Amino acid sequence: MLDQAAPSVVTRASYEAPHFAVNSVALTIALYADRAVVTGRLDITRTEDSSAPVLLYGGKGMALDQLRIDGAVQDISAVDTSTGEIAIDIPHQAVVETVTTIDPNNNTSLEGLYLSGDMYCTQCEPEGFRHITWYPDRPDVMSVFTTRIEAPVSLPVLLSNGNLVDSGPLEGNRHFAEWHDPFKKPSYLFAMVAGDLDHVADSYTTSDGRDIDLRIYVEDGNAHRTAHAMDSLKRSMKWDEDVYGLSYDLDIFMIVAVSHFNMGAMENKGLNIFNSKFILADVETATDGDLERVEGIVAHEYFHNWTGNRITCRDWFQLTLKEGLTVYRDQEFTADTHSRGVKRTDDVALLRAIQFPEDAGPTAHPIRPEEYAEINNFYTPTDYEKGAEVNRKIATMLGQEGFMSTAMMAPPPLVMILSPPWPMPMMPICRNSSAGTARPGHRNFRSNAVIPPTPGH
Ligand SMILES: [Zn+2]
Repeated sequence: MLDQAAPSVVTRASYEAPHFAVNSVALTIALYADRAVVTGRLDITRTEDSSAPVLLYGGKGMALDQLRIDGAVQDISAVDTSTGEIAIDIPHQAVVETVTTIDPNNNTSLEGLYLSGDMYCTQCEPEGFRHITWYPDRPDVMSVFTTRIEAPVSLPVLLSNGNLVDSGPLEGNRHFAEWHDPFKKPSYLFAMVAGDLDHVADSYTTSDGRDIDLRIYVEDGNAHRTAHAMDSLKRSMKWDEDVYGLSYDLDIFMIVAVSHFNMGAMENKGLNIFNSKFILADVETATDGDLERVEGIVAHEYFHNWTGNRITCRDWFQLTLKEGLTVYRDQEFTADTHSRGVKRTDDVALLRAIQFPEDAGPTAHPIRPEEYAEINNFYTPTDYEKGAEVNRKIATMLGQEGFMSTAMMAPPPLVMILSPPWPMPMMPICRNSSAGTARPGHRNFRSNAVIPPTPGH
């Protein structure tokens, strides 16, 4: 029987800030042959006097094995998980723990935690994390994550976001690795990988003298096809320092190539996950186009470390903030690296080929939509390519210096702040403060966020 229920629509105007903060998250993901047991420990503090319960999201029908509040086991017999949402009453501050069993082996959605070949991996943007554990899975809830992965020794490589802080053997032919990411992030940037993987290692020294470990993990037999991606990564790190003054901030940066992946690549903090076809290239046989595509995608995902990860969109209506700006940045990287004229011609040809038809058709929408039933449908040429053109327009009008400093005088900006230091964490939205117009010589770009579709153009 068909499900006739109309999808629920989320509107931008109905946005409400969360009334609590998740100070820290301790996740333990224990992988077994037929299941994964996920324990989430959330240290939550209410940010205002509110009697509203804390909402945790989970996949529809996702099991909830146990719920503890400040260590006390709660009666969950009456908790309805079928809606994908549970409401928990807590005092001003509490530690909320959930234990959930999930089935990554049979997860064919390619979101959440799933098996790709013999490797476990994750995809959490935009709302995959709620298929791993119960969590306030929204971009404006940013927290410090510590992740412990326990697995059989047949999965020797255990990776997650941040820096590796501990690892060792466990009973029963098992072992663990614990990762800590010191930077607050939304749950959509969470990632973990477990598998028997080969890797190539290199290093990069930042302009302020810090040595960063660089690793690209691949399935056996593919290590010789990573040289171009590694070289592209190092040149991207250098370009972001030279042009924007942005250095990498963790001790290690990892890329994992995955055969089954529903996006081209994903910028998870410190642990980018790529569809293999966008990372592997044999310099002997790849075409120039293949090599430039790998280079551009490696750069794009790396640039997200600042434009998207450290500075995050408040909600999914602001998606173009991270994507339009990061596409603009990767376009400029390629233009500086190769031919500026050829790159611009290519980008305009792409815009005309895929974005103009969208603007002229029934799915036309502004770069910042007003409502959605399914946010996955807004990863569009309009959000990405037209969003990049809006950034390019502002940069053209202001000049590079003005572009980079615009946001400093008028946060939260349409153009993200690109002159550190910033107050962290930041979650800008698509709008320009009118503060810019109050200053001689400064322009107001307020209209950019609501540029309507332009059918036929
Ligand atoms: Zn992106």
